[in-house]
Amino acid sequence: MIKVRNLSKTYVKNKALDNISFTLEEGEILGFLGPNGAGKSTTMNIITGYLSGDEGSVEIDGVNIMEDPVRAKKKIGYLPEQPPLYNDMTVQKYLEFMFRLKKVRKPMKEHIAEICEMVKITDVCERIIKHLSKGYRQRVGLAQALLGYPQVLILDEPTVGLDPQQIIEIRKLIRDLSKEHTIILSSHVLSEIQAVCDKIIVINHGKIIARGLTAEMTQTGDSTGKLDLIIEGRRQTVNALLSKIDGVTKVIEKGECEKGSYEYTVESKRDVRRLIFRAISKTDFSILSMSPVGVSLEDTYLRIISGESEEAE
Ligand code: ADP
Ligand code: MG
Repeated sequence: MIKVRNLSKTYVKNKALDNISFTLEEGEILGFLGPNGAGKSTTMNIITGYLSGDEGSVEIDGVNIMEDPVRAKKKIGYLPEQPPLYNDMTVQKYLEFMFRLKKVRKPMKEHIAEICEMVKITDVCERIIKHLSKGYRQRVGLAQALLGYPQVLILDEPTVGLDPQQIIEIRKLIRDLSKEHTIILSSHVLSEIQAVCDKIIVINHGKIIARGLTAEMTQTGDSTGKLDLIIEGRRQTVNALLSKIDGVTKVIEKGECEKGSYEYTVESKRDVRRLIFRAISKTDFSILSMSPVGVSLEDTYLRIISGESEEAE
């Protein structure tokens, strides 16, 4: 449904995008994850035809956005970072205005009423936009993107500035919309992407630095990663024993928790639980507790953007 090939974009001297490629099938939700300035909005602006790339191509349902922007744009609903709302209009008037601008071929009143119902803004339809809360304004922006029910929805940081309750509602709405639409959404917040998307692309400094299925990327490692341990016995000796175990990369002492027992976090490249058990059982020390620490994608994400891992394809 969406094919992005080798997109690059330079603003004056600043290379904002560097050879971005990805594809998205119909009905999928792709999350664009990256810190501020990573290039998320630039990519979305190019995909939606609001900005031209220097190199590369974008196809929406087989239509090239650069070659046939009018036809391609018809297939896209876009919620930019700053929704283009006309603050002095009522919600209803604004949506009617956008409906005409987009030349939607549907019965106008019914269509707008249906969308308002869907994004739950029916009760504020006659209110002036500037008097609405941030959450409502965001939903009006979403309503605007939905006009004409385009096949593709591009949502740039759709939950920024919303309160937790509103965030939950918008997420649910986006998931519901994915039944009928192919969606790309961006966020600098991992939990956001994790909660909604099937696929994740992590970008930083204009480059894709990781990609995968959300389920795979958020897997918590029980075989590798971190273990929390409580071991009864002499601290220095236990530390030395743990450090010597094959595969252990780091032993962090976290202090005494009960008299004579100390807490440790062990980081490892593979599953070292059995090796630890065997090593400790050769002494007269005792393992009082051993529990894998789930490695959250949050950790992975932070590690990725600080360590700049290579593109994983
Ligand atoms: P994100 O949406 O991930 O925060 P952006 O796509 O907005 O990132 O920005 C990517 C990079 O391009 C940043 O370094 C930003 O400063 C720069 N940039 C964005 N828009 C412009 C512009 N209109 N002119 C010059 N530089 C820009
Ligand atoms: Mg942005």
